[in-house]
Amino acid sequence: MATTETIDAVEAEMAWEGETYRKLHQRPELSGQEHETAQLIEDKLVELGYEVHRIGGTGVVGVLENGPGATVLARADIDALPITEASGLDYASEVMGVMHSCGHDMHTASLLGAAKLIADFRGNWTGTYLALFQPAEETAAGAQAMVDDGLVARLPRPDVALAQHVGAERAGAIGVTTGAILSAADSIRITVHGRGGHGSAPQLSVDPVVLAASIVSKLQTIVSREVHPSEFAVVTVGAINAGTKSNIIPDKAELLVNVRTYAPSVRAAVTAAIERIVHGECSTAGSPREPEFEYYDQFPLTDNDADVTQRVTNAFVSYFGEDNVFQAVPKTASDDFSTIPDAFGTAYTYWTVGCVPADRWQSAVAADRVRDIPLNHSPGFAPAIDPTLAVCTAAQVVAALAWLRKSR
Ligand code: ZN
Ligand code: ZN
Repeated sequence: MATTETIDAVEAEMAWEGETYRKLHQRPELSGQEHETAQLIEDKLVELGYEVHRIGGTGVVGVLENGPGATVLARADIDALPITEASGLDYASEVMGVMHSCGHDMHTASLLGAAKLIADFRGNWTGTYLALFQPAEETAAGAQAMVDDGLVARLPRPDVALAQHVGAERAGAIGVTTGAILSAADSIRITVHGRGGHGSAPQLSVDPVVLAASIVSKLQTIVSREVHPSEFAVVTVGAINAGTKSNIIPDKAELLVNVRTYAPSVRAAVTAAIERIVHGECSTAGSPREPEFEYYDQFPLTDNDADVTQRVTNAFVSYFGEDNVFQAVPKTASDDFSTIPDAFGTAYTYWTVGCVPADRWQSAVAADRVRDIPLNHSPGFAPAIDPTLAVCTAAQVVAALAWLRKSR
């Protein structure tokens, strides 16, 4: 497929794709409940001539076999968030309390567009294309649900896996990097025990509120005193729950802690330090029972393969031009995408696509006011459809063709 042909084809797709994007945006569905969305995807893939599999509940995979050659897997996530939209867009969410405020509707519409282009141009490439639509990214459950439902046995093994995410950059600018691009994340529910009593007689109790406060302070020393200064880690205590009334000392406290890391060794050291500090503080306070740790909402590291990233970067630079492809700074956010290629033992790359209107982005950067732009997970998040949708679509096509293109 010649570059200009691709551009023309992408532009011809824009009306249909834009309509699909707006429809998805108006009808967002929460993680694991993407029934209408999955049906829309399935209907479109069937219409395009893909063999369609339902995997992991609301997960959908379209398979297009087109002769010998490489197998490419492209993934989009499809779920929305429990947020009431305040974007003011005329195609804003019609579902109270649910919003596509992470741009997964953009990923979904553009992968459907890419699936159509790939199908339309099947005379120009050879191999197998897998368009994978994954539910429940926001709860870190969807990729694993697909794997648990037999993903690996039901699909041809991909030689490469590709994924993208829209976010805070000039609309259309593509960010690539080798190695870690998104962090591993762990949430930990920590329960510490005290001995409850009357608020007027603290000497008869072990106060878990004071214990929890002490733990929160001490946890701040992990990143500042234990992690190597050149390594990345975040430890955030997002919630403390204890007690009901000012004059009652409760008998336990719960802390919800979030950890972000790139290096697996740092991840292990940080979680071990958290457990050590909590045990130590409980012992110091005279806690009557051992603390409990429950790990949940765990996201794997997104660690881009060097060769795959180089090949995709070369393809992007030759298609989009050097000015539109930049070296991405690793992000502290997380995604469960890598669970899918890891299950196959397949190398992957994950890139970012900017979605902030160019003039708005440039003036915000110039004024050092990027923080004023409503970004992912905000009720005002409003990606610029043009050119983001076309760029996301072309990026998936161009990246896939780096493996599928017929040699000349
Ligand atoms: Zn998100
Ligand atoms: Zn997201």
